[in-house]
Amino acid sequence: MGKNIAVVGAGISGLSCTYLLSEENYTITVFAKAFSPEITSNRAAAFWFPYHVRNDKRGITWAKDSFAFYEKLSADKDSGISMKQLIKVLRVNTEEEEPVWVEFIPEGACKKIPKEQLDTGFEEAYEILVPLIETQIFLPYLQRELEKKNVVFETKIINDLNDLSSFDVVINCSGLGARQLCHDETIYPVRGQVALIETDESRPIYLDNELPLYIVPRKDAMIVGGTYEEHVSDEKTEPATIEKILQTAYSVFPGLKQKKVFGDWAGLRPFRKEIRLEYEAGTNIIHNYGHGGSGFTLAFGCAADVVDLVKKI
Ligand SMILES: Cc1cc2nc3c(=O)[nH]c(=O)nc-3n(C[C@H](O)[C@H](O)[C@H](O)COP(=O)(O)OP(=O)(O)OC[C@H]3O[C@@H](n4cnc5c(N)ncnc54)[C@H](O)[C@@H]3O)c2cc1C
Repeated sequence: MGKNIAVVGAGISGLSCTYLLSEENYTITVFAKAFSPEITSNRAAAFWFPYHVRNDKRGITWAKDSFAFYEKLSADKDSGISMKQLIKVLRVNTEEEEPVWVEFIPEGACKKIPKEQLDTGFEEAYEILVPLIETQIFLPYLQRELEKKNVVFETKIINDLNDLSSFDVVINCSGLGARQLCHDETIYPVRGQVALIETDESRPIYLDNELPLYIVPRKDAMIVGGTYEEHVSDEKTEPATIEKILQTAYSVFPGLKQKKVFGDWAGLRPFRKEIRLEYEAGTNIIHNYGHGGSGFTLAFGCAADVVDLVKKI
């Protein structure tokens, strides 16, 4: 008989695990304090790119598996996933690490742009075809697909994972919530603030980690980011910071000044030096949290490892 599984958390980590688990003969209940759109996962930009995980070699498989999953799902127009061109630039005298992220990219997806085609000030640039995950469409889509498969969703704060001992397996995907739930002080918030401007879907995604600047054209808005503020837990934007982000974007692309600015948001990345993906010995708990700025990039690869662990319990 199939296992009775509790998943804690309805962000991309929890939903991706639930999605892959739902392909097996399991009974699944998802418990969460909050659901889309009231969660960090909705605030992600969320294009596929390995960010602050490059020293963790487990990330190579996680990233590639997730890439393949999204690429396949992009054929379904309702999913909110599309394959989109990303321009990643490195400036002259870059202090950024060597492009070790290249080994995370599936073969054939990345092309180096010839130096003679680069504007002054740029040392290197890459053109990469990546999945863009429109969170405002994809998260509700996933939830609907799971409801069709009889997954139960329950709004509930879990104060102690041991309260779920009646389940055969508990998957802990609580993101920043793990700080309290697991008394894990190694996970902490990294705030990201972004501006929202009138969209132009014909543009590629643009990524310049040195300014920093990223521009992500979605259907509903163009996300212009953004900040990376470690240990800041106030999920609010600051008008002066948003203005600075916009001015940075205008300095690179003056044409954007013509676009209407209609909003902003802030989100808290659940950062941990090393993602915690493991079975906790002697319990019924598998942890899967601490994905920082790469939750979408890694989700379905991590979820596949979680499914393997579930099969072993
Ligand atoms: C501005 C910004 C831009 C980003 N851009 C990208 C990007 O381009 N690509 C990318 O891959 N990633 C990006 N990210 C990172 C991404 O958003 C996160 O890595 C990802 O959303 C983490 O997902 P999660 O499911 O682990 O956590 P969350 O989305 O935070 O979900 C946690 C879930 O656990 C629940 N929970 C917590 N505690 C409890 C409890 N005690 N009881 C019950 N439920 C609980 C919450 O209610 C929620 O449902 C970005 C983040 C920000 C802020």
